[in-house]
Amino acid sequence: MLSENIDAVQKRISEAADRAGRDPSTVKLLAATKAVPVARIREAISYGLKVFGENYVQEARAKIEEVGPGVSWHFIGRLQTNKAKYAVRLFDLIHSLDNEDLAIELNRRAAAVPRIMPVLIEVNLSGEENKGGLAPDALLPFLEKVAVLPNLSVRGLMTMPPFFADPEKARPYFRRLEELEEETQSRKIPNIRLEELSMGMTGDFEVAIEEGATIVRIGTALFGPRR
Ligand SMILES: *Cc1c(COP(=O)(O)O)cnc(C)c1O
Repeated sequence: MLSENIDAVQKRISEAADRAGRDPSTVKLLAATKAVPVARIREAISYGLKVFGENYVQEARAKIEEVGPGVSWHFIGRLQTNKAKYAVRLFDLIHSLDNEDLAIELNRRAAAVPRIMPVLIEVNLSGEENKGGLAPDALLPFLEKVAVLPNLSVRGLMTMPPFFADPEKARPYFRRLEELEEETQSRKIPNIRLEELSMGMTGDFEVAIEEGATIVRIGTALFGPRR
């Protein structure tokens, strides 16, 4: 049952925040809805969920139109540069900015709306080639370039560790992202304020919260396995 799953996830979020001495309201629950039909999304909205994450622009476009106003949509997948023009109109936050071409195109398309587009920078801490994200070494130089793009607003960092059956194994990756955020903040790059850490999914969100996550992206624990 969806309502029970939502309650259970919210309880686990609160308990993880408590363990870490954090206020549970500092952790936002994003429902990852790739492959989840609109009827289920509406049901989730009726139970109080407000933030949804999609991985594919085409799929998101249709769903966002059907669902209508009143909720927030984030983009959490890999964004192709040629989809930037749609992304700046559809989403409240893009979690996966990781290259300069995309930054320039998002800035240009956001200026045309016009709007300031909030983004997170995705960092690839494992070096896995099938995943998006910048190498940690590339983060500072990248931020210095993005900082001067007037229609982008960098809000934080995102990461996706490798899959581990034991969530404890993901902890060092979450800790590293938090350290990177601290290190980067201490550089005081003009226009860059990192406040959000988007990390943690069904298998590891409690560990992510213990390590400082402010947004957890959860699909399976809410909606069941994807087919
Ligand atoms: C699908 C997805 C999630 C949610 O994964 P679950 O393991 O089902 O909770 C989170 N983040 C990203 C980027 C995803 O693609």
